[in-house]
Amino acid sequence: MISNEEVVRLIDVGKKYYLSGDVYVDALIDINMTIKAGEVVIVMGPSGSGKTTLMNIIGTLDRPTSGRVIIDGVDVTDKDENYLSRFRLERLGFVFQQYNLISQLTALENVMLPMLLTGRYTREEAMEKARLLLDLVGIPEVVNKRPNQLSGGQQQRVAIARALANDPSLVIMDEPTGSIDLASSYLILDLVRLLNRYLGVTFVIATHNMEVASIGGRIIYLRGGRIIEESDLRRIKEEFGRLRVDPVVVAKSYLRVLDIEERRLRRLGLDVTDVERRRNSINDFLGKHES
Ligand code: ADP
Ligand code: MG
Repeated sequence: MISNEEVVRLIDVGKKYYLSGDVYVDALIDINMTIKAGEVVIVMGPSGSGKTTLMNIIGTLDRPTSGRVIIDGVDVTDKDENYLSRFRLERLGFVFQQYNLISQLTALENVMLPMLLTGRYTREEAMEKARLLLDLVGIPEVVNKRPNQLSGGQQQRVAIARALANDPSLVIMDEPTGSIDLASSYLILDLVRLLNRYLGVTFVIATHNMEVASIGGRIIYLRGGRIIEESDLRRIKEEFGRLRVDPVVVAKSYLRVLDIEERRLRRLGLDVTDVERRRNSINDFLGKHES
């Protein structure tokens, strides 16, 4: 299953959300990226940076305002909704922050549904495969439970089993651990890692969580709808570094405060030993930190 095939190619993709008249938000700007079969690509960025918009465009759930979107070798940019819903069903798997399971169906039925919708599986085949997928994600005991009888972590694992139902070329996850506890998050991340390594499943995962980012092969950083280049990322990190409090600068400022304090005390004829003690300890500190 692992090959050099491109599963995603975005060419100059832009997305504007029009709010009213000609007032719009630039949610994505000049996005160029590719994902190859067998990769795990993490899309990181703060809230509002365009992650969900990007996931929705890769997932053909939304259209770009400009540029081309090629998924699994098909230019889907101008395909109609009929074509796209079939395309999604057969080739893509989705895992959202809020699980999006169907509440009237059991876990087993939720996983069976995509297989039945393609018409490629008999009911028996779909049932057997759904059971195996729930085994695979480690929750065979929940087959007959409905989503509201499951924990968040269990629901997310059902969602992963469902995403795998039709052997997708790409699984798209948008903040998959955003609503679950830490222990369940680790389970999900281990699962992603194993599915990628042993089954060759390709993932693109949007997150603002560093834990999630730590599993990924490649990380793409988004800021204000743009992909940040490595050199820019370095610059931003340096800027953040400068924003941090520098203890040497603080210590030197404090020495000047002590000078004023000492002058004041002397003017009033008061004891300055305490000021001197504090000055000595700051000078000790500066001696160690300045070279
Ligand atoms: P993220 O997932 O990284 O938090 P989003 O893709 O949801 O970012 O949003 C990117 C930008 O687009 C934000 O400024 C957001 O407010 C705006 N946006 C997202 N969806 C819509 C929408 N349906 N209508 C208008 N603006 C939107
Ligand atoms: Mg989002």
